[in-house]
Amino acid sequence: MEFQLTEEQKMIQDMVRNFASKELKPLAEKIDKEHYFPKEIVAKLGDLGLMGVAIPDQYGGAGMDNICYSIAIEEISRYCASTGVIMSVNNSLACDPVYRFGNEEQKKKYLTPMASGKKLGCLGLTEPNAGSDASNISTTAKLVGDEWIVNGAKLFITNGGEANTGVIIVQTDKTLKTKGLAALIVDFDNTPGFKVGKLESKLGIRGSSTAELIFEDARVPKENLLGNVGDGFKVALSTLDGGRIGIASQALGIARGALEESIEFAKNRVQFGKPIADLQAIQWMIADMATRIDASRLLIWRAAYLKDKKQPYSSESAMAKLYASETAMWVTTKAIQVHGGYGYTTEYPVERYFRDAKITEIYEGTSEVMRIVISRNYLK
Ligand SMILES: Cc1cc2nc3c(=O)[nH]c(=O)nc-3n(C[C@H](O)[C@H](O)[C@H](O)COP(=O)(O)OP(=O)(O)OC[C@H]3O[C@@H](n4cnc5c(N)ncnc54)[C@H](O)[C@@H]3O)c2cc1C
Repeated sequence: MEFQLTEEQKMIQDMVRNFASKELKPLAEKIDKEHYFPKEIVAKLGDLGLMGVAIPDQYGGAGMDNICYSIAIEEISRYCASTGVIMSVNNSLACDPVYRFGNEEQKKKYLTPMASGKKLGCLGLTEPNAGSDASNISTTAKLVGDEWIVNGAKLFITNGGEANTGVIIVQTDKTLKTKGLAALIVDFDNTPGFKVGKLESKLGIRGSSTAELIFEDARVPKENLLGNVGDGFKVALSTLDGGRIGIASQALGIARGALEESIEFAKNRVQFGKPIADLQAIQWMIADMATRIDASRLLIWRAAYLKDKKQPYSSESAMAKLYASETAMWVTTKAIQVHGGYGYTTEYPVERYFRDAKITEIYEGTSEVMRIVISRNYLK
């Protein structure tokens, strides 16, 4: 067992850390306050190969491993969790399923532009009556001639309002339940009957677009079916397994940011004639924050390692997401405590980190659903 990063992993860590502190740190407050979708940053992430980190270069990606991917999301989310999720969704929820289930033509047409950052992708799974229970999808797709006719709506879709391409999970035959589900690649720029609906206003990750997607007799070419009819549930669940590595890494980046801000603050804030960092109460908070953050990172890198080795990793990625997201919530709460009253104001970034952390316990499977996934594996 190696506890050291490879040269390539160190290289991407340095490169993304440098990029994030130079280009993202100055923009992060504006992204949050103005609910600003950082188009220019997303374009630069594409130029750096970060929109398809673990996708082979023949399909426009950087051809790196999933530990590199986790490192990149951590470094980006350390300053801006909105950008972290934009990137994570494109990598894990849009590129990854097309890479794993797509045919050569679909990969050339849809994967290459997304992985190279020229186009943005999303995954449409959730519906008003299908959240944690993803099997209850009611968006329908009927094959008529050479086209799928799609009707229904998807809810809370990250990147939805900005995306060019979506992997959309649909029901082809309700009587077959999950065996009737299918995944379609939808070209948002060229699909009659498709439109973006309501955009959500949110507690955190305010720069990311969270949209409703509406399909009214939307016409999708027959050849845009990903895999076979009946593969939709498998596409969705296996995609979320990988996505959880990304969201856990986002949570890790938020938590690390909150810890670093707390250390800086504690060294400079003087009370009772000395920096509060000299107080044992503060030192213990810093120690506990650092320990949970390190434990999160180890769980995430293990899940990423298993994915790279093509070994089962569903339970491990659920553990990583569960632990890292609850750590992010816990650490950001402590970070506000270390900052005292200042931490409660918008003058310091820790209140934003606290708001951003919450969603990591909810999307791509809630903490309750993560516990179901993990316990099912242990009790079987
Ligand atoms: C900002 C944001 C971005 C999102 N991005 C995307 C996206 O890109 N694509 C996409 O498809 N979806 C996306 N989602 C949807 C997200 O994945 C769901 O919100 C999430 O899975 C929970 O579903 P729900 O909101 O319907 O809650 P529900 O499923 O209604 O859950 C409500 C509560 O009940 C609990 N619960 C439900 N079932 C069980 C159970 N069996 N046992 C124990 N507890 C249970 C839940 O844990 C939760 O606490 C996004 C959501 C948000 C808010």
